[in-house]
Amino acid sequence: MSIVTAYAAPREAAPLEKTVIDRRELGPHDVLIDIAFAGICHSDIHTVRGDWGPQQYPLAPGHEITGTVAAVGSEVTRHVVGDRVGVGCLVNSCGECRECVRGQEQFCRQGAVGTYGAVDRDGSITQGGYSEQVVVTEAFVLRIPDALPLDAAAPLLCAGITTYSPLRHWRVGPGTRVAVVGLGGLGHMGVQIAHALGAEVTVLSQTLSKKDDGLRLGADQYRATSDPTTFRELRSSFDVILNTVSAAVDLRSYLGLLDVDGTMVCVGAPAEPLALTVGSLIGGRRSIAGSNIGGIRETQEMLDFCAENGIVAEIEVIRAAEINTAYERVLASDVRYRFVIDASTFAE
Ligand code: NAP
Ligand code: ZN
Repeated sequence: MSIVTAYAAPREAAPLEKTVIDRRELGPHDVLIDIAFAGICHSDIHTVRGDWGPQQYPLAPGHEITGTVAAVGSEVTRHVVGDRVGVGCLVNSCGECRECVRGQEQFCRQGAVGTYGAVDRDGSITQGGYSEQVVVTEAFVLRIPDALPLDAAAPLLCAGITTYSPLRHWRVGPGTRVAVVGLGGLGHMGVQIAHALGAEVTVLSQTLSKKDDGLRLGADQYRATSDPTTFRELRSSFDVILNTVSAAVDLRSYLGLLDVDGTMVCVGAPAEPLALTVGSLIGGRRSIAGSNIGGIRETQEMLDFCAENGIVAEIEVIRAAEINTAYERVLASDVRYRFVIDASTFAE
């Protein structure tokens, strides 16, 4: 066991504090990673604030991790010391069920092990990337292509895969009319990826304050949801709506924007339930769906896709001592477009 410095919530909804956490001894298939950067995902905030149910504290969040390999276990074959690597939302799964075999570890029948706040297969509680080092079994360690800088690549490990996976699953490509709802961490990745896939992209944001950014990131159109004419004028005009909003939205208004056979995919995961009027589906054979991150194979595919297409997150690098302020700014939708913690500042 080794002890590393981390930032963790001591109890529900409390500000994060500097502390120390344990990392297990390197097993034969484990990789020890010196963390360079950790992105701040809205899920970190939902989790430590208890939005998704009770947690065990202290809890160090962070599932957008990049860094370099510091040591490898005796049987590790995929990584060597010095490799540039990443860890996303998953750190373990059974490896044997139908979903794991299909590369969809996020749906593991035995329960995929999340990077923080989850019970690992050895019974310990996982602790995330707001820390100096992490030990992860090699199959869950991704390769960061040389073309991607470690800071701006960190958010790809969650925000990138969470938007890439549904865009691929719902076959977004040239000519697909896609609306991305919410231009935050996930949304700004969704816009870039959908554009790179050849789609016609519209951003639906609360206001027009980030319009220039949205268009620069690849959107063809940018509309404000606070303006009622948006919902009238865009009626029946999308094949896919990717909803990244962290709060409850009025589904009926958004479903009306789908053309016949269109699908609204929700990746935003608010604490509150969303009310559905079935008539909004029936009227156009529309579907509503959800999507959860992506498997390890697909995450590597996404990283390679982003490297080939020059896609990274737009980031604001912060020191560890600024995490709580950053949380407040994320909650106020004041993020352009991902906070990334410089891990060299955890020990300050
Ligand atoms: P974020 O950076 O805070 O972005 C969310 C965006 O939603 C905001 O920038 C804002 O965009 C919009 N928004 C926020 N509050 C709103 C409100 N009350 N009404 C309308 N729009 C609002 O968060 P994120 O990190 O991208 O995460 C977004 C959500 O996805 C969170 O719920 C997170 O937990 C979830 N998530 C899910 C998965 C998954 O696998 N399904 C993975 C990661 C994250 P505008 O300012 O443009 O309106
Ligand atoms: Zn996340």
